[in-house]
Amino acid sequence: MSVDVEQYQIRRQPWYRPVGNEIERFEAACAARMPVMLKGPTGCGKSRFVEYMAWKLGRPLITVACNEDMTAADLVGRFLLDINGTRWQDGPLTTAARIGAICYLDEVVEARQDTTVVIHPLTDHRRVMPLEKKGELVQADPGFQLVISYNPGYQSLMKDLKPSTRQRFGAMDFDFPAAAIETEVVAHEAGVAPEVATRLVAIATRSRNLKGHGLDEGISTRLLVYAGQLIAGGIAPREAAEMALVSPVSDDPDMRDTLMAAVDTCLA
Ligand code: ADP
Repeated sequence: MSVDVEQYQIRRQPWYRPVGNEIERFEAACAARMPVMLKGPTGCGKSRFVEYMAWKLGRPLITVACNEDMTAADLVGRFLLDINGTRWQDGPLTTAARIGAICYLDEVVEARQDTTVVIHPLTDHRRVMPLEKKGELVQADPGFQLVISYNPGYQSLMKDLKPSTRQRFGAMDFDFPAAAIETEVVAHEAGVAPEVATRLVAIATRSRNLKGHGLDEGISTRLLVYAGQLIAGGIAPREAAEMALVSPVSDDPDMRDTLMAAVDTCLA
């Protein structure tokens, strides 16, 4: 079974602005073959970080966006029917184990717990992936690295990682970067002037103070980049802020008014 490894290789250096010593810590975890859990709100730079690390370490990257309909077979693989009969197709986790890729399971708590347990044999000293239906035991390549992301903010009793899963990972906490760094990120990613980025970041900072006070999650760095891109594309800043910062985070008219007031203050 041959896999086109090239398709998973990150050829161009992703732009990543380090926030602390996360690069060194991730490298040390990889060297120790320690599975890594990235914890933090959505849109704060976790995926970009993983892409950057895959590029820096020269490893292929296989990303899986997890969801509740995902089954263990979606990760492991399954038999497919074709004109010649049945054919086994590896799932992304099995492919990653075979080729020594970084396997990034994004938003892993979205997957049902019976799905997540398939990562267990890969995350202990055995580093194996049993393909029970096929009768094969895949020994993970030394380069294989499992990374999961998880947003503790969305945590609920139903959707949490089992302790037996959790305790297999080293964890790295991510959060929205300090205002000066976030401004740099927004200016770079959206191609707007630092003065514009500073104002957008100020809106997000205010929204993040409303978390738990009617807002589930504050405005993310990703949304700030979107707002910046709209402004760079010629949309008036207030309109861009409404479209990219306010509307996406709340449907509640009162909360939207509060956020628009913050927009007007910060853009004035
Ligand atoms: P997450 O995976 O945490 O949901 P992403 O990694 O997709 O978030 O981040 C969203 C966007 O924010 C990225 O596409 C990138 O433009 C920007 N971003 C956030 N933090 C950084 C950072 N430290 N360096 C570079 N870009 C960043």
